[in-house]
Amino acid sequence: MKIDTSIVLQPIGYVRSALTSLDDYLPPGQPAWIDIRPEYQEALERIEDNSHLWALLWFHKSDRQLLKTIPRRFNPDLPEYGVFGLRSPNRPNPIALTLVRLEAVEGNSLRVAGLDAIDGTPVLDIKSYYEQDIVFSPVTPYIRANDETMRRNHFYKLAMNHHQEACADLLMAVRMVLVADQYMGHINRSDLRVAVTGSSCVADTIQGLSRARLANPPRFSFNESEDMPISVWTDRDSTLKITARRRLDQNGYSNWSDRDLFHIEYMKV
Ligand SMILES: [Zn+2]
Repeated sequence: MKIDTSIVLQPIGYVRSALTSLDDYLPPGQPAWIDIRPEYQEALERIEDNSHLWALLWFHKSDRQLLKTIPRRFNPDLPEYGVFGLRSPNRPNPIALTLVRLEAVEGNSLRVAGLDAIDGTPVLDIKSYYEQDIVFSPVTPYIRANDETMRRNHFYKLAMNHHQEACADLLMAVRMVLVADQYMGHINRSDLRVAVTGSSCVADTIQGLSRARLANPPRFSFNESEDMPISVWTDRDSTLKITARRRLDQNGYSNWSDRDLFHIEYMKV
């Protein structure tokens, strides 16, 4: 007798979003909603005690035959990866795991930030995001987007997850890290050190993005200063010094070039 091992799930709700294609990004700061079905509303009791939630989604438009893939959305020149080592939407069971920030509970709808799922995506479950879920400096595949806007949005999202306020110095730090990523490659690697001079907001954001710890291995150092921020990135064969020329606001963040914003010195040892 053949045993049926299939699993039947009912969505607990659906995503409501301006996003209609996974090839796009929601602009930073634009919320999305998870509409919970009325029969599950009781399961939202005290959910507002959480700042962040894991959402488990069903990517209903995925290719379920795919076992290996190139993350083309980011960069068509990358090698192939097995889908279990990636967050690719295409996989045998297209369950998506995404971390969202809970902004408000509006009846049986959750207004959230950071939800990269298209309008109408079924939601399978929602869970608390706990402190024990956090590993400060994990080792991850280096998947670098070709597209500048995509890279900028990616680092902005990581920076907000870490620093939790969109202050001017967070914007400065994101732009600095984008330069470092361009010259030095994967900024999370264990042999890359970074020394920051500037405000504690610049330092905190750069530390969050580079995942550079103070010890084991010692990768991060900081001098608090009210002068223009400087970050110096060093590995075995090169040094990159990025000095801010001017203060930054939202307009400058979006429009100024690296050369407008920074004095960049790159030296091969
Ligand atoms: Zn700040």
